[in-house]
Amino acid sequence: MKPDYDILIIGGGLVGASLACALRHSSLRIGVIEAVPLAGVTQSNQDERSLTLAYGSKLIFESLGLWPAVAGEANPIERIHISDRGRFGFTRLSAADAGLPALGYVIPQRVLGVELIKLVKTADNDNIEWMCPASMQAIQFMPGYACVTIAYQGAEKILNTRLVVAADGAHSAVRQAVGIDAVRTEYRQSAIVTSVNVSLAHRNIAYERFTETGPLALLPLASGRCGVVWSVSEKQAATMLAWSDAEFLNHLQEHFGDRLGAFSQVAKRMAYPLALTRVPQQVRHRLALIGNAAHTVHPVAGQGFNLGLRDVAALAEIISDAKHTGDDIGDLRILRRYASWRERDNRVTSTFTDGLIRVFSNRFAPLAWARNVGLLAMDLMPPAKRRLIRVTSGLSGRLPRLTRGLPL
Ligand SMILES: Cc1cc2nc3c(=O)[nH]c(=O)nc-3n(C[C@H](O)[C@H](O)[C@H](O)COP(=O)(O)OP(=O)(O)OC[C@H]3O[C@@H](n4cnc5c(N)ncnc54)[C@H](O)[C@@H]3O)c2cc1C
Repeated sequence: MKPDYDILIIGGGLVGASLACALRHSSLRIGVIEAVPLAGVTQSNQDERSLTLAYGSKLIFESLGLWPAVAGEANPIERIHISDRGRFGFTRLSAADAGLPALGYVIPQRVLGVELIKLVKTADNDNIEWMCPASMQAIQFMPGYACVTIAYQGAEKILNTRLVVAADGAHSAVRQAVGIDAVRTEYRQSAIVTSVNVSLAHRNIAYERFTETGPLALLPLASGRCGVVWSVSEKQAATMLAWSDAEFLNHLQEHFGDRLGAFSQVAKRMAYPLALTRVPQQVRHRLALIGNAAHTVHPVAGQGFNLGLRDVAALAEIISDAKHTGDDIGDLRILRRYASWRERDNRVTSTFTDGLIRVFSNRFAPLAWARNVGLLAMDLMPPAKRRLIRVTSGLSGRLPRLTRGLPL
């Protein structure tokens, strides 16, 4: 029997839409199942959150042909200033340290979402069917194909596919349906996300300041404003959401200081609960997990979506190679190549971000002293900085063709 689809992507968020976009010229028959309805041209769950895109992610979006559409709203990060509030340690990273034009880019998540969906839904991609609002209900694995039940247009439909890709986020229904257990560690923190006006020019510098309440990031936006990502305890988050704008701005000023001058005109504040999720199995026969369905990390180093996009670049390459050699794209032997390719990057990134949170949330005086010495030492060691930048930029290890500017 010939299945209805080659690939069914469950979840059309940023990561699922990026995979559809990467495979749009492949002639594979692709279905995308997305639960949240479109509101105009935007998925209504895309928000104004500022996303830091690593330099390697920019290269992937260039290869996908998406970059020209978003470049105008993507502000380069030329330098990052990392410090421990009220203590002596700091480290400065600059694009020049690693010989890159930028350390990364800050872009509103909504802009990426809108442009990705536009590109996927252009008329010439008639191999892609975008089913929305539609939700995955059940999955069964048969010999030769997987059978996915979805709720769509007021009815249940059964779709057959060679490969199911779970891109349905941190609480993945696919993972639950097939019995893959995730190990979730709650940080008992929420990130308060907003943006502010600054009275001094941001000069394309991003700031990561470890404060006693949690890490506080100020990110340079193309509008001249700065995105704010402030991680605090869940209790503190509730208090901060209840503050008036003036109270919030006062506290922000007090915690950040005056490097960016006076803060004003704070936008709407939103809170996101934070957790570390490790998923022991990234593939099964006819199933691959990508993006937040495969891992979630603390946003302290702005790595979550970048990791997901690197999943996309690796999986798209493995699928397209298997297609060219006439192999079954859902075969476990093929999918294991994806899992082993992605294992190291996922492990290193989640360990690095989790380690940062643990080391910087500890107020034990000798440890605080040691980490400040560590920050200063890092500031004085260009090779260590270069290595850190290559890893967090998605430019270390085996690079996918899309990162190298090559077609799939
Ligand atoms: C405060 C904060 C700041 C962040 N900052 C950064 C940053 O600067 N840089 C960075 O790289 N990352 C950052 N991240 C992480 C990044 O936002 C996520 O990693 C990324 O958005 C995950 O995308 P996704 O498509 O995998 O998952 P999601 O965005 O969760 O998308 C999943 C999609 O699946 C759909 N879905 C769910 N269930 C079903 C179902 N049963 N059927 C059909 N569809 C379904 C949902 O509607 C959704 O559209 C940040 C995260 C937070 C919380």
